[in-house]
This record gives sequence, C-alpha cells and structure tokens, in this order.
Amino acid sequence: MIININTKPQYKVLLQSGCIGNGSIKAFFSEYQGMKAAIITDNNVAKLYLKNIQDGLKQAGVDNSFFIFNAGEQSKSLSTVEQIYNFLSNNNITRADIIIALGGGVVGDIAGFVAATYLRGIKYIQVPTTLLAMVDSSIGGKTAINLTAGKNLVGSFYQPSKVIIDTLVLQSLGFTEWQNGIGEMIKYGAIADKQLFNMLGELDIKENIEKFVDKCIRIKKSIVEKDMLDLGERQILNFGHTLGHAIEKHSHFTMSHGKAVGVGMVLISQWAESICLTRSGTALKIKQLLDKYGMPTHYQADLSTLWEYATNDKKAKGHTITLAIIENIGEGRLLDIKKDKFLSESVNVQITPSKLKGKIIVPPSKSMAHRAIFCAILSTVECIIENIELSQDIIATINVAKRLGKQVCYDNGNLTISGQITNKDITIDCNESGTTFRFLLAVLSALGVKANITGKERLGQRPYSMLVNQLISKGVEIDSQSGLPINIKGQLQGGDFYLPGNVSSQFISGLLLALPLLPSDSRIILTQPLQSSAYVDMTLSCMDSFGVIIEKRAESFYVKGNQSYKCKQYCVEGDFSNAAFWACGAALTGKVDILGLNKNSIQGDRQIITILKEMGAEIKELPKGYRIESASLKGVEVDAENIPDLVPILSIIMAFAEGKSIIKNTQRLQLKECDRQKAVVETLLKMGVETVIKDNHIIIVGTTRLKNGVFESYNDHRMAMSLAIAATASGEISIKGAQAVAKSYPNFYLDYKKLGGKYVINLGG
Ligand code: NAD
Repeated sequence: MIININTKPQYKVLLQSGCIGNGSIKAFFSEYQGMKAAIITDNNVAKLYLKNIQDGLKQAGVDNSFFIFNAGEQSKSLSTVEQIYNFLSNNNITRADIIIALGGGVVGDIAGFVAATYLRGIKYIQVPTTLLAMVDSSIGGKTAINLTAGKNLVGSFYQPSKVIIDTLVLQSLGFTEWQNGIGEMIKYGAIADKQLFNMLGELDIKENIEKFVDKCIRIKKSIVEKDMLDLGERQILNFGHTLGHAIEKHSHFTMSHGKAVGVGMVLISQWAESICLTRSGTALKIKQLLDKYGMPTHYQADLSTLWEYATNDKKAKGHTITLAIIENIGEGRLLDIKKDKFLSESVNVQITPSKLKGKIIVPPSKSMAHRAIFCAILSTVECIIENIELSQDIIATINVAKRLGKQVCYDNGNLTISGQITNKDITIDCNESGTTFRFLLAVLSALGVKANITGKERLGQRPYSMLVNQLISKGVEIDSQSGLPINIKGQLQGGDFYLPGNVSSQFISGLLLALPLLPSDSRIILTQPLQSSAYVDMTLSCMDSFGVIIEKRAESFYVKGNQSYKCKQYCVEGDFSNAAFWACGAALTGKVDILGLNKNSIQGDRQIITILKEMGAEIKELPKGYRIESASLKGVEVDAENIPDLVPILSIIMAFAEGKSIIKNTQRLQLKECDRQKAVVETLLKMGVETVIKDNHIIIVGTTRLKNGVFESYNDHRMAMSLAIAATASGEISIKGAQAVAKSYPNFYLDYKKLGGKYVINLGG
C-alpha cells in the first residue's frame, strides 16, 4: 500500500507487511544504488532487525554503515547527536548519501534531527519499528532532541524522503509499547474519525493492524498537509498532550507518554464537558476504550496542580494557551483560553442572532429517566434503561444506585443496573437535583438505610419539611427539616400519609416509589388538590412498567405493600421540556424538525405544542415529532399550574407575540432552582418588555425587538436556555453563568450550534 504525503517536499509511505523479514525491502532501496547509507538505530532494534536492513541495502547495491546508541529517551540528547555527526563524518557520508532511521520515535527524532542539520541537510528514510512511530512520529517531519530544561526543545521540521513500514516487526514489541501506540490511535479516532474510534472498541487490533495503521497515517496526513509547520490546525494532534505532559512531569516520567496522554484525554474531556464544550458522556467513552487496552484512566494529582505544571512548560509562553479539545468523538477543535481562566467555574456565552434551522433529536426526558433509575434501583432483576443522557442531575441519581451497592454500567446511552442493595449506611451527594433528593428521602426510609445526605446551591433551601414530617411520623429519624446536610435513619412504617398537592409533586412521587416496598398497605391523602399532576402520572406510568400498581381514588393514592419492582428493559422517551426550547426558537425565527418525541406522551410539557399552535406558529406533525416554523405570533393566556418548567421559555416567546399574554398561577415558581417568577420578570424588564406580576399571574405585553446586553442565568438551566433562544431573535445577548444548562441539558449549546446558532464561550465571564 502506498500513501502519498503531499507536504513540501512530498514523499511516500510504503506499507508492506513482512518486507523487512522477507527481503522485499530491497526494492524500496533500489533508487539509492551506488550511494552510501548510514543506519541509525538503538541497541534493542539493532539486535532484531539491523541485519535485515543491511541485507536489503546490499542486495539493492547500497553500501552501508551503522551507528547504535542505547535505547531510551535519555539518548535523545545533544551528546548522542554529536557522536552521530562524528560517525557520519568518519564514514565520509555526504549530501549525496542517505540516513536510515531504524527504530521507534526516539531513533526517528534523533536521526531526523541529524539529517536536518548534518551538512545543512541530507536525505533520510524512516523505518519505524514501534506502533507509535508507525502511526505518528515517522509522519509529518517533526524532529527533535531534549535539553536538560525539557523535552523536544531543539528541533526542526524536516520531511523524510520516504517511510517504510512493516507491521510484522510489531510482533517483537512489548505490551507497554503497544499501549503507547494505541493511546495515539485512540487520539486520532477521538479528534478526527468516529469510525476508527468505534473500530478500536470492536475489532482485535493485532489481527487488523495494517488496516488500523493505514487509517491513522491517513488522518495524520490530512492534518500535516494542511499545516506542515504546526502553526494552527496541526495543534489538534495535541489532544490530551497538554495535561499528558504535565502528568509525565509530575510522575517524574514514571508514567509513559502514551499512558499519560490517555489520562490527559480523559481529564481534558471531563473538564470540557463540565462547561458544555464537549458532549456529555464523551470522556466516559474514551475511558472505556483506554480500559479495554489496560491503560490508566485517572491520575493522583488534581486538575489545578496539573494545570500549574502544564502552564509552566517552557513551550507554553504568553497568557493564552491553545487547547485541543473534542466536541464529540471524531470532532476535534482548538480553543484559545487565558491560562488563569482554565479553572474558572463561571462561563459566559455570547450569542449573536441567527435563525435556527434543521433537525434535532431531543434528549431523553430527565423526569422519566429519574423515575426509571429509581425503579431500576429497586428492581429485583437486572434492568437496562435505554436512552439515558448523563446530565448532572441524572448522574446524581445514578450515584444513588452505586452508593447502595448496585452494579452500574453505562454504555452508549444505555444504563444497566443490576445486583442487590447491599449498603445500609451511606453518604450521598445529591448535587443540585431536587428530584434525586426528594425521591431519596422516601426511598431510603422505606429501605431502612441510614444516610448522610448532602447537596449544593439552593437544594437545601427548597422545601422538604412536609415530606420529612410525614416520614418522622411513621418511625424515621431525620435530624433536619431545612438545609443540608441531613442525617436519616430508621425504618418507615406503612399507614396514612398526608401531603398537600400544591407544593411539590416530588413529595408524592417519592412516597409512591417507596411505599410499595413496605410490608403493610399505605394511603397518601392529599390535603390540597394536586398541581403538576402530569409528573405524578409519569411516576405511576413508570412504576406500572416495573409491575408496581397504585390505585388512585379521588384525592388519595392507595398503595398495596409487599410489591416488587421488576423490569428488564425500559426506554426513556424524548423530553418535551427541552423540546420546548427548540419549538419556541423555531416559532420565533426558523424552521426545525424536532424529533425523538412520543406524541401521545403523558409529559405535561407536551402542552407546548398546543400553546404554540394557539399563538399562531406553523406546526406539522411528523412520524416522531413536529416540524415547527416561524410565523407572526399573538399573545395568549396560559395556566402554569401543571407546566411550571415551561414558564421561562414561554415568557420569552410571549415577549415577541403581538398583544398581551398572561401566565397564570406562577407563585409556585418562587421555589424552583431560583425564584423563577422574579427572574422571569426581572429579565423581561431588562429586555425592555412591559411585564408585571399581578394576583399570582405574570402579564407580558409583546414587542418586536428586545434590548440586548448581559443577562444573568440565575444559575437556573431553564433561564439560561431561554436567554439563548431570545438571542436568536434579538440583538447580541451574553449569558452569565451559562454553564447552568448542564443541570438538565448539557449538550444544549452544541445542539444550538448544530441548528445554526452562533455563539462564543468565554471562561471566567
Ligand atoms: P522508543 O523509540 O524509545 O521505543 C520504545 C522501546 O521499544 C525502545 O526500547 C526500543 O528499543 C523498543 N523497540 C522499538 N521497536 C521495537 C520492536 N519492533 N520490537 C521490540 N522492541 C522495539 O519510543 P517510541 O514510543 O517509539 O517513541 C517515543 C518518542 O517519540 C519520544 O521521544 C517522543 O517525543 C517522540 N515522538 C515524536 C513525534 C514526532 O512527531 N516527531 C511524535 C510522537 C512522539
């Protein structure tokens, strides 16, 4: 196989299995007949393959001499280079002759550097013998040696005359050296080729080695051809290297380069996921692949320590650093960031107006997923939940399963929960997830598990005392009725539970999930009519799929005890709450096919479709969703009682609708991630929209253009997403605390971009 590398100068990569051992390599040397060849190699490789190369050269009529140095990075020094210069000169090697680099990356780098500098440049051939050298260092013309001050500090760009690769020589390569090469191959898949990444997960690498090497070379070729001198695009090859180099240094080079880069890829992807630059679950995919090849996936030092090491690197000059990250597997990109902003927790997204157009598959319903995971935790059989997206809230619920001792495996959107609940004394962090926390209180009480529960931000301030009081009245000890952490212990008894239906439907859902586990029967009696009833319906529907039946009569739920949860497979449907952002975005400025939805869903937020129709948006039903197109919109009256999560985005679309809109029953929004009622009104007023709160209602008078500027997310995911949609149809908008979307829709900005949305992410904004 021949691959042409079209740099200046051009050269060929000759990929032929067995060519070194079977003598056919002589054909690749025939053009040098009558010249002298100086073979440079290390002592390990010399023992194995030097003779074959000499024989090949002899048969091609090329005289040869050789220089052998001790294998290893320590030889990549000026002193080795000087010895080689002397050897070349003593053997009368001239510019009419040729150098052959026979070995791994160390040999290639030294020999390449010597070739670039001896007599101001002499031809050289790369004959790489490690996997890393075959797929990476032998291609692209980077040559270098180390100084005491650091690695690769002296070097040049100097392309070889040809590269000869025989993958059969890899048979003698040690396991760690294979891993080093595989680390680079995973990198290629991650930055440029999803298919390669998947193949590395599915195929036997040794059996398919030629195919893999060929694929990697072609990726490197396409990158170096565009940026031979590493001034721009080629820096994408540094994916994982910034933190990888830091790990190498921090470990005093006890962790090899390939392994350190592997960990570096995981760490940088985890970081990028946390600020919504990388699709959620990507770091996990890299981790799983590294795992398959027995490579490490974490390192003992924390990110801030590694960043110190990375930014003190001699080559990391100036205040800015260019980081290679990936948005998704196969989609690399470069990101310039100020060194001191890397660990900043605040993200500012600056959005310029644009029409949203195209197709989007909405993420799975977070509400359904929480319920399914709790049911699977309680399930007596292994359960696979399909279509799970790893948002922060969902990770909090998955952690409940792990803490309780269940086995958890996440693979490509499928979550498998198996095993038994074995831990009866746990600590658990609910992060900011209200659903996790409230369900957990009831479920742990029914399981009789002792727990210390913590959480972040407003979680402890959101109401839960009514649920706690009921649990305490039935035998559970809980040491706090507000604030976190709280401690809980004791066994819940069955009986009658009294709860208002108008504070949080999650109290009721939590009890519904828990009570069937008790030996005796129970009843939940609503002291106030139920609001957000759709959420309770979702709980009942999910429990039904797990074979647990609840009877609903008037204002009460009758729960039979001694029931068991059982379900082998459950699929989470698309989320209408998140679909609402694209639906409103399309209704305002564009045309979007919103897919992955169950049109007969019991999700309350399905109502967004009816509301948009009433406002005048053009809506067409598709087999798995809706096509929504912009039209002039008119004001409407909406009751928020059962659709509290839609209020932020409804307020934005109403701001653009002709005439007056009213959102009724908004008082309860004060108890959400932020005081959403206040946040909505403050935001609209700042945008120049006439808005008032009156008698538990928000009244909005539409306008044609909103004022641009910098707006707060209030650390509320739905506020941040609503602002991004507002920006499509107004002037430029900056969202402070834009990373809040990670709570429920971590891929929101990446999906926004997919639909044509334009934005820049600034750290520390
Ligand atoms: P290496 O050259 O040190 O080789 C690793 C070990 O494998 C050595 O002990 C070597 O003797 C032995 N070996 C080589 N081929 C063998 C074979 N077929 N069978 C048995 N043993 C064999 O290490 P490497 O991983 O190939 O290269 C690492 C170097 O490459 C580093 O110095 C790094 O900076 C450089 N590098 C350069 C580039 C570039 O673009 N120039 C890219 C990546 C890495």
